[in-house]
Amino acid sequence: MRILATDMDRTLLPNGHWEADEQAIELFNELTRTHDILVVYVTGRNQALTEAAVEEFGVRPPDILIGDVGTTIRKYEKGEWRFDEGWTAHVRRVSPRWDAEAIKAAVAGIDGLREQESEHQNPFKQSYYADHGRREEILAQIGKRVEGRFDEVIVYSYDSMDEKGLVDFLPDSATKQTALEYVAEEYSCEKGEVVFCGDSGNDIFPLTAGFSGVLVRNADDQLVENVRRAMAQNPSLKVYFAEGGFRGLNGYYTSGVLEGADHYGLFDTGR
Ligand SMILES: [Mg+2]
Repeated sequence: MRILATDMDRTLLPNGHWEADEQAIELFNELTRTHDILVVYVTGRNQALTEAAVEEFGVRPPDILIGDVGTTIRKYEKGEWRFDEGWTAHVRRVSPRWDAEAIKAAVAGIDGLREQESEHQNPFKQSYYADHGRREEILAQIGKRVEGRFDEVIVYSYDSMDEKGLVDFLPDSATKQTALEYVAEEYSCEKGEVVFCGDSGNDIFPLTAGFSGVLVRNADDQLVENVRRAMAQNPSLKVYFAEGGFRGLNGYYTSGVLEGADHYGLFDTGR
């Protein structure tokens, strides 16, 4: 089984300010189908926002949706979504101290931190907007009140489109990385055989976890820097930096996903 996993916003989806190749999405849909690749979207989006993106951009639905930053897994079969209860049970078992309500209470009143709308919250995801200019001070406050008490991970990312800082609290067992490991195991796919593509923030975890990583050409500088640092410390990490050239495409967004998949041989015939 060949698995192509990709972040959605500004990785697969051309919703940033770089120029997108017009034909890239159609080519992605075609190549993943003709080469019988298992497609996994690994995203901060929930199911409804994923469906909206499929509609808006014309990307194919995934075979598997790792949604809500890794806290939910759904399979798409015969036009219907099936929620993976096994993943939920696994997370509860592995992160027994996780408590979204307690985290909410603990961070209440931190200046510059504002809870996101209810559609961005779920039992395994407590999410906030943060004043990006004051992120260090905010993260220090959060650290003091939360760190290590709730089997949590704290993920900071920056939305360059809206110029917003984002803080996600997740169970430490339910991230983009661990959810993708769970899916790889279910399909008996070696981690190194799974290609993962990303562009920013929370993509750092799967990019430095032993999958075959891809950074699209528009990846943000902070992520590039963090990935290079991780590679220097661990020379066995495989990460490909898209730069354009696959079938004349420019390497941004979908084109970078295709370039990376091709780099790792996913489109080789006869495999
Ligand atoms: Mg992204």
